[in-house]
Amino acid sequence: MLKEKLRKKRVYLSSNSDAEVLLQVFGDAYGKGNGDGHEAVFNAVKEVHKEVIGGYSVVALVANKGITAFRDPNGIRPLLIGEKKVNGKKICAFASESIALSIQGYENIRDLKPGEAVFVDKNMKQHSRILESGIPAPCVFEYVYFSTVESVYEGRPIYEVRKKLGEELAAKVKKHWPDLEVDVVIPVPDTSRAAANSLAKALGVPYEEGLIKNRYIGRTFIMPVQKLRENAMKLKLKPIESVIKGKNIVVVDDSIVRGTTSKRIVQLLRESGAKKVYFLSTFPPIRNPCYYGIDFQREEELIAHGKTIEEVEKEMGADKLIYMDVEGLRKAVGTDKLCTACVTGEYPTTTEHTKELTSLRKKHIAQITSKC
Ligand code: SF4
Repeated sequence: MLKEKLRKKRVYLSSNSDAEVLLQVFGDAYGKGNGDGHEAVFNAVKEVHKEVIGGYSVVALVANKGITAFRDPNGIRPLLIGEKKVNGKKICAFASESIALSIQGYENIRDLKPGEAVFVDKNMKQHSRILESGIPAPCVFEYVYFSTVESVYEGRPIYEVRKKLGEELAAKVKKHWPDLEVDVVIPVPDTSRAAANSLAKALGVPYEEGLIKNRYIGRTFIMPVQKLRENAMKLKLKPIESVIKGKNIVVVDDSIVRGTTSKRIVQLLRESGAKKVYFLSTFPPIRNPCYYGIDFQREEELIAHGKTIEEVEKEMGADKLIYMDVEGLRKAVGTDKLCTACVTGEYPTTTEHTKELTSLRKKHIAQITSKC
């Protein structure tokens, strides 16, 4: 819809990238010359907030003026700023993960607030303002899957959150399945390692590395089409038979989206001689699409959509499937000011344009698939 609006204004879009649309909306508003200096930039950002519904973090160079960075009014997507001194002069940088800044010696690292914009002028003077503040709803999936374990998101160390996820899951197992016989807990590398470790400790069961990740395969989840994901999956994980053979295995993964990886893991563990395979997910069942930039925008691609946990368990071929619940997830993160829409279906923004988004996505996937 936004693209259509821009086309009607005779704005030429040269890509499928959302960033280009954001740039055009921002550029169009900035070009109207509403205000001076940082006020002109902030007025243009206000226009973006008005026009663009969804989750976004933007860093943009304003030619000959400076750099601006801003976060959507609900703070769905992450954005941080850090400072350091170079040759006695204070400079700053922006990133979507704290580790990208701390590793380069930046200090005073902080998350931009929901709806906040920062403008850094040519003299490195920072101007900052909250231009629009919606209900804070940072993406909970950042804690569970996206962020690297060394990062800190919204003041919470990811490693600590993931450890707590493991403890919460262990508490659930003890409460509902006290007789589950487990010989060993293994993680699906790398994201679920901290959770699997703390879960094993809480259950009093050995923790081992039973699956080894091929370092040369990227994240299969973010590959654009199923065929590519399946091909990559075949090469991605290799089992260690001595850890698995003849044992009742608890395998811990961060989440289950389409189920491609999870099914393959269950199959791999069985082929390696596992007696029982209990699959534990540190994220609750994903039954709703994400419209905020994460690549699951159609409900039919989600393994848990429209299914009970028992049905998903059967489809995956696991002896037991245990999911985290929403309460446990919020407890582990330490707040309920989160976006959990893919789990609960409660979206922090209006969803009136989502049908159109879904059909555009389908067309896009059909185009890529035809080239594969
Ligand atoms: S819908 Fe899920 S993945 Fe998307 S922003 Fe919300 S929590 Fe994150």
